[in-house]
Amino acid sequence: MKLAPGVTGDGKGDPMLELKEILRVYRELGAGFLEIPPDDPQIRMMEINTEISRCRKCRLHEGKTNYVPGEGALHPDVMFIGEGPGETEDKFGRPFIGRAGQLLDKIIQKMGYRREDVFIGNVVKCRPPNNREPQKDEVDACLVYIRRQIETLAPRAIVCLGKVAFNNLLGVSFSISRIRGKLFDFSGIPVIPTFHPSYILHKKGKDEISQAKWEVWEDMQKVIEIVRRRNVAR
Ligand code: URA
Repeated sequence: MKLAPGVTGDGKGDPMLELKEILRVYRELGAGFLEIPPDDPQIRMMEINTEISRCRKCRLHEGKTNYVPGEGALHPDVMFIGEGPGETEDKFGRPFIGRAGQLLDKIIQKMGYRREDVFIGNVVKCRPPNNREPQKDEVDACLVYIRRQIETLAPRAIVCLGKVAFNNLLGVSFSISRIRGKLFDFSGIPVIPTFHPSYILHKKGKDEISQAKWEVWEDMQKVIEIVRRRNVAR
């Protein structure tokens, strides 16, 4: 499986990106005969990562340790989208590697995938201070990246983890318990919202935890079926 480039990669020093940049400059200077290499999704992902690594569009970059652009497969069956990096993710520049991430890994495995078979990203690429929810202007500044990642990766289905990811991606305002497991659309790609893994981790009683886990699993079974049908129809 081909991996999307650079977990925290900024594309600096990447010969292909540098060549494209040089060709672009020469073309602008009138050398229209110079061909820019065709749009390879791997290159596009590197370009997006480079832009993220230089982003200063909102205040979140000031407090972050690392940008967390997202990671995983090119053209995955499933793309998981969370809210924003937490402390561990910020420290290592990788999405969902803390406690919530360990639970997400289990969900992914139960669906029959390895972590590297899917793509995991967030609506904001820098950690909000003290794990607060990202504010509207921060999300608005960052949304361009997840939209371009979706367009480039063209996943068979998107799973939004929690209401912050879902509401911001679709520009709506729903409570997650009302819409979890329902089917939505983002640019022709099926979107299924479900509970954020942290929601399960914050549950107290054994029954409540089992119930929340079961509901997520119900939602993921729908995702598996949607992906299966889309792969058959391909
Ligand atoms: N929670 C999120 O929403 N994203 C992460 O990457 C980690 C925890």
